[in-house]
Amino acid sequence: MSRRTTRARRSAGPGPEPTAVRPGSPCPCGLPAGYADCCGRFHDGRATAPTAELLMRSRYCAFVVRDEPYLLRTWAAATRPPAVDFDPELRWAGLEITETSEGSLFHTTGTVAFTARYTHRGTPGALRERSRFTKEGGAWVYLDGTFTD
Ligand SMILES: [Zn+2]
Repeated sequence: MSRRTTRARRSAGPGPEPTAVRPGSPCPCGLPAGYADCCGRFHDGRATAPTAELLMRSRYCAFVVRDEPYLLRTWAAATRPPAVDFDPELRWAGLEITETSEGSLFHTTGTVAFTARYTHRGTPGALRERSRFTKEGGAWVYLDGTFTD
């Protein structure tokens, strides 16, 4: 997921706080485990995502909790932006993985297609993207994505 927005809006004043996600909260990525046992263990470095799909889920989740360092370290060096800009008006509302290919423990590339739902200033929307992943130093990283709308 590569959604980036401009920083300029920040000067208009602080937006609402990010969605509160606690260790025992249901994981925002949609899997049944709690956050700490699901994407949280990747965010805090206790584990690395073993598949492209789990990396995708953990990156979506990192947008939800605004974990910029995680997003940057799971971004391929060739396409990594200098910073991630979080739109304070945007609330991620759910992730659905619609298709995966390769991306297992035994692959070095993979693609994951997904729909990420959000509300922006209260208006619902959806981002549909097919993301490409590759491995760097043995760990899955996000390479790029194309919108599939
Ligand atoms: Zn998760």
